[in-house]
Amino acid sequence: MKIALVDNIRTGATKGATGICPCCGSQVIARCGEIRVDHWAHKGARHCDPWWENETDWHRSWKGNFSADWQEVIASDEITGEKHIADIKTDYGLVIEFQHSRIDPVERRAREKFYKNMIWVVDGTRLKSDYPRFLKGQHNIRRTNKQGIFHVNFPAEVFPSIWMSSSVPIIFDYKGSVSLDAQNDPRNLLYVVLPKNDTLAFMTIWTREHFINAVIQDKLFTNKEVVKIQEQQTLTKRTTFSSLPYIYQKGRFVKRRRF
Ligand SMILES: [Zn+2]
Repeated sequence: MKIALVDNIRTGATKGATGICPCCGSQVIARCGEIRVDHWAHKGARHCDPWWENETDWHRSWKGNFSADWQEVIASDEITGEKHIADIKTDYGLVIEFQHSRIDPVERRAREKFYKNMIWVVDGTRLKSDYPRFLKGQHNIRRTNKQGIFHVNFPAEVFPSIWMSSSVPIIFDYKGSVSLDAQNDPRNLLYVVLPKNDTLAFMTIWTREHFINAVIQDKLFTNKEVVKIQEQQTLTKRTTFSSLPYIYQKGRFVKRRRF
């Protein structure tokens, strides 16, 4: 965890400090070493939230784009009392979970059901095959009659299949925590897959700035808008997606002449 309570104040980990876990109320110890990011760890025991995953630099830099008050917010179910730590929870109730590790589909569904109004941001650099699959699979991505909305023909040929039955939007971040030199590198953008409706999957593309600002200003699309896109039977145009600077040809990636 990035945040624990020290004298009841939400505080970051500093060497030698102890604090209280804002989720379960037990003691946590600051861990400040060279291998992992500075964090708070539960004393001896496992993390109280079974959904918690060890944080990477990638998690930290994403969380850092938002107000400290929105980071690591305790969300609880009023009826069952079940509690979890949301990576980001905005003032207006949107939860963003940053997922690096592989997630079991049962847990993914449980988390979507618990948070309801949520978006996943998935680290697309976890498996070496994820980004090549995306580049190779782009012939499945077609423009639609709606500006900026694409239809994905066989989503599992483009994105990791484990995410394709999700009930909430999923953002794939193929950049991870590396810095990219080329401005037109497709990994600078975020690929947003909208909840699936039978066999149709829609996708949109955002810059990081657009996503972050839309979250901060509560201007992200709502689930209602997503349903509207799908109910209006967005028409697929025959032209294929061609916004990426690379195309996959004869077993290798070739840079487009014009981008
Ligand atoms: Zn705890």
